[in-house]
Amino acid sequence: MGFLPLLQVVLLAAAAAARAPAARAWGEEGHFMTCKIAEGFLTSEASAAVKGLLPEWANGELAAACSWPDAVRRQMPWSSSLHFADTPGDCKFSYARDCHGTKGEKDMCVVGGINNYTAALQDSSSPYNRTESLLFLSHFLGDIHQPMHCGRTADLGGNTIVVTWYNTTKTNLHKVWDEKVIETAMNRFYKDDRSAMIQAIKLNLTNEWSKEENQWAACYTRTTTCADKYAEESAELSCPAYVGAEQGSNLEDEYFFSALPVVQKRIAQGGVRLGAILNQIFSGKNNSSIQSS
Ligand SMILES: [Zn+2]
Repeated sequence: MGFLPLLQVVLLAAAAAARAPAARAWGEEGHFMTCKIAEGFLTSEASAAVKGLLPEWANGELAAACSWPDAVRRQMPWSSSLHFADTPGDCKFSYARDCHGTKGEKDMCVVGGINNYTAALQDSSSPYNRTESLLFLSHFLGDIHQPMHCGRTADLGGNTIVVTWYNTTKTNLHKVWDEKVIETAMNRFYKDDRSAMIQAIKLNLTNEWSKEENQWAACYTRTTTCADKYAEESAELSCPAYVGAEQGSNLEDEYFFSALPVVQKRIAQGGVRLGAILNQIFSGKNNSSIQSS
């Protein structure tokens, strides 16, 4: 699936940018949480392989490097459309219809990106840089679970819907889902402690979601990574997310409390699924739940 241009970026040069507090696309916190949850599911073999591919500045922590694709988006403009898969707004995702770049380039959406970098990591003779493939794959698994990354094309996934958050911050609907819900939850319930919020999400995995969690990595399509299914879920979740969030509206508790459970579950699902995909790639674990047909 060599449809993407080969990357020519020196990871070390991008390290400073990756550490900058630029928050886009789930925001840095959301990506960190997704990847941190995935780390907890890795087999020792997969964990060692992942660590071996991480750039030095990540200090052996996948979560620390998961926002890298956002940090290099400007240097790699071709990668921009790989962060999302917008739809006409019918709450459905269709690969043939929706997976393209802004100029119609085929496969250039988040689903195509996940499929491409999964295949690249599975093929040791692939010309793709394996470190960059790992970071792109891990990041896109986060993006695809954020409902507004499969929002409407007409408003750029909520980016052009200007709203106010708790009567104070002017923002947009996309950013509410990327950042504001997570920031507010962290501040209100976890004393701004990211690891406390991650622990709470993990606890839900063993309690509230325990019955369904073992099905999350399963899918019944013939696609490489089941990424179609994840985009279908997000497209479906994006429709209710638009309700009550009209242009110029003020969003507060009512919206926050309806969005938070969705955000937490999508972060958890992204983490569980990323862990399963990385295990399959790096430990040859025949995880039939990922590629069952
Ligand atoms: Zn992104």
